[in-house]
Amino acid sequence: RGSGRLVGPNVENGGAADAKNLRVKLVLLGDSGVGKSCIVLRFVRGQFDPTSKVTVGASFLSQTIALQDSTTVKFEIWDTAGQERYAALAPLYYRGAAVAVIVYDITSPESFNKAQYWVKELQKHGTPDIVLALVGNKADLHEKREVSVQDGMGYAEKNGMFFIETSAKTADNINLLFEEIAKRLPRPALSSSS
Ligand code: GDP
Repeated sequence: RGSGRLVGPNVENGGAADAKNLRVKLVLLGDSGVGKSCIVLRFVRGQFDPTSKVTVGASFLSQTIALQDSTTVKFEIWDTAGQERYAALAPLYYRGAAVAVIVYDITSPESFNKAQYWVKELQKHGTPDIVLALVGNKADLHEKREVSVQDGMGYAEKNGMFFIETSAKTADNINLLFEEIAKRLPRPALSSSS
C-alpha cells in the first residue's frame, strides 16, 4: 500500500492502525450551480469564496475529522468540474466511492428533480453499501425557497438516505453534514474488535 490509491471498493481498513483511521472517497453530485464547490471549500478551508473554484477534474481535496470514539475519517473529496454531467463519465467518477453527497438548491425544483435522478443512478450502479446523503443547499435563501423541507426529507426517508439542509454561504450545517456521514460509514473492523 502507500500508493495513495483507495484500496478495496470503499472504506479502507486493511491494517491495524487503519481500523481507527478510515479513508474514504466521497463524491458530490448534482446540477451545476447548486453549490457543490462552495460546500467543499467551506468544509475544507472554512471559506465562502465562489471565485476560487477547484478547476482540474482529476484533483481532489481532503479533510480529516475526528469522531468522539477517537476514530478519524479522512474524506477524499472528488471535484469533477462538471464532468459528471456527461453520462458516460459519471460511473468513472463515482466508482469506489464510499459516500455520495447529492446536492440540490432549495430555490430550484429542477435541481431537486436532478438530485432524484442521481439517487436512482447511485442506488443502481453505486458501491453496494454506499452512504447516500441528500443535501438541500442555499438554505439561507429562505425567501426564495421553492422546495420544502418536507419534500426533501420525505424523499430521503423513502430512500433510506441521510438528509440535511445547508448553507455554504453562512456555514450552517456544513460540518454537521460531514460528521453525520462519518458516523454512518460501515466500520466492520471496529465492531469486530469490541
Ligand atoms: P457547483 O456548480 O454546484 O459547484 O456550484 P458552486 O459551488 O460553483 O456555486 C454556484 C453559485 O451558487 C456560487 O456562485 C455561489 O455564489 C452560490 N452559492 C453556493 N452555495 C450557496 C449558499 O449556500 N447560499 C447562497 N446564497 N449561494 C450559494
